[in-house]
Amino acid sequence: MVDLKGQYEGIKSEVNNSITEVLESSTFINGPHVHAFQKELEDYLGVKHVIPCANGTDALQICMMGLGLKPGDEVITADFTFAATVEVIALLNLTPVLVDVEPDTFNIDPKAIEKAITPKTKAIVPVHLFGQCANMDAIMELAEKHNLYVIEDNAQAIGASHTFENGEKKKAGTIGHVASTSFFPSKNLGCYGDGGAIFTDDDDLAHTIRGMVNHGMYKRYHHDVVGVNSRLDSIQAGVLRAKLPNLDSYNRSRRNAAEKYSKAFEGQSNIVVPKFSNCEMGPCEDCSCHVFHQYTLRILNEKRDALVQHLNDKGVPCGVYYPIPLHSQKAYRDDRYNEANFPVTNQLVKEVISLPMHTELDDEQIEFITNLVINFVNG
Ligand SMILES: *Cc1c(COP(=O)(O)O)cnc(C)c1O
Repeated sequence: MVDLKGQYEGIKSEVNNSITEVLESSTFINGPHVHAFQKELEDYLGVKHVIPCANGTDALQICMMGLGLKPGDEVITADFTFAATVEVIALLNLTPVLVDVEPDTFNIDPKAIEKAITPKTKAIVPVHLFGQCANMDAIMELAEKHNLYVIEDNAQAIGASHTFENGEKKKAGTIGHVASTSFFPSKNLGCYGDGGAIFTDDDDLAHTIRGMVNHGMYKRYHHDVVGVNSRLDSIQAGVLRAKLPNLDSYNRSRRNAAEKYSKAFEGQSNIVVPKFSNCEMGPCEDCSCHVFHQYTLRILNEKRDALVQHLNDKGVPCGVYYPIPLHSQKAYRDDRYNEANFPVTNQLVKEVISLPMHTELDDEQIEFITNLVINFVNG
């Protein structure tokens, strides 16, 4: 699905130099590389505070801790996402409220959010799934109207941006009150182990969170709040510093590959290609409306599972993200949920297939893959 080796070959000297610097400095925790990366990412995103941490799941959890969410508070998120999003809500004894998504963008449906809001609702967690921002116009409006926090799960969309209806453009992760991201190796900005970060423009919240990631310490050995231990290590920060300057060009490569995939699937009645919101397919100024963490098709003629098998047999990797709605997962089942409220997710889990997507895909590979898919789906 990803070609991390090929990508490494292209930045080998930068990465090796960066790691060597960390080794020579022997500051493996909270060293100068971590601070430098933090500053560089703040500049890239145009956000006041980046707080690095150990992974994207921690980042989400710490966002919720930082906002002071309490047991019993309801947190609305998408039924169609990676489990980490709902996991941390449950872990903090908050009440997860899963809602349906939109069929064309796979992102949380603002109409479903609105229906789910109660007096106990405290936050909305939109996940910018597969590299494209959720409908942040509608979500921010709802949040303002009902006085809710917005925590963006930006693990899949770093470098993406959202253009608001009034023309204003903001980077994913800088729109809500606070955001989390992951530097898991296969993410658009991945390190060579685990890593994550939290973003916010709120000075007080940033201060609270900086202490929380470090055992609740604001002054050495004074523990003011219950915190966690969640750090980005210096070697990972070194890798990320070498990769960050390439993020936009990596995202452009993904976008180019996505355009070629979609062109090849034009006119196929059983294959639905991913939709870009806020943006037309074709050359654009910065290609940041969708950064294609995944390129995900819907196969309409019930051949999805057979197609997965066929591609595997031919040695083409593919993935099903995600095969089970979160509300149907054993850990998150609840009598509060009504199947009738999840028509889209229940359908998508049977139809979606993600094709190989990375920065090193070439035309020949894309042609080979698209021919296999088209011939099989029509066969
Ligand atoms: C990857 C991912 C996470 C978790 O990130 P980790 O670094 O693996 O903990 C959270 N949410 C979404 C949507 C993700 O894709």
